[in-house]
Amino acid sequence: MDDCCAPPPLNLGPKNSDAGKQNDVLRRVLWAVLVINGVMFAVEVVAGLAAGSASLQADALDFLGDTANYAISLLVVGMALRYRASAAMAKGLTMAAFGLWVVAMVIWHIAQGTLPSALTMGTVGIAALVANAVSFGLLWAYRHGDSNMRSAWICTRNDVLGNLAVLVAAAGVFGTGTGWPDIIVAAIMAALALQGAVLVIRQAFGELRHGKVMAAE
Ligand SMILES: [Zn+2]
Repeated sequence: MDDCCAPPPLNLGPKNSDAGKQNDVLRRVLWAVLVINGVMFAVEVVAGLAAGSASLQADALDFLGDTANYAISLLVVGMALRYRASAAMAKGLTMAAFGLWVVAMVIWHIAQGTLPSALTMGTVGIAALVANAVSFGLLWAYRHGDSNMRSAWICTRNDVLGNLAVLVAAAGVFGTGTGWPDIIVAAIMAALALQGAVLVIRQAFGELRHGKVMAAE
């Protein structure tokens, strides 16, 4: 679910060429979406804690993964495989740790019978939708080729589905007056994210071990 959001690649041509200039603009765009996604990660974590919502925190996982992807594409893409694989490994481990944190939150909320704030969930869920739409719009001009555009669509669709799941959970919490819709949505999202994290870790591990790029599964 999370590892789909690889941004368009910087092409590392000579600085003064047209490609070099276009790269400078793309670099700025990547920094902008990195900040947007990083901020939304923090907002969803804090709001999730404040509102007693595990699904908001589960949705934060995707912003974390995307932030990591933008950081990797800005900072380590041109480096040797060892560094790229290490960065991917760090990302995978961070995602896995945070995924387990969300699982712990789910268990905690079940034990406590927490009633999350549907209003906070709804408001932040909509902000997340806007953030994903803006990120998508900012990067759209830099997508080239059918497969790249297709993967961008799939990625954004998955991001938006996550945001919509939070909104559905908010409506469910409001409608039922219980925390269960929040818990169910969070558990599904955390399971998907953990699955994604395992794939990232496995691939990075293979690359570190064999010293060559492994095909993604
Ligand atoms: Zn994403």
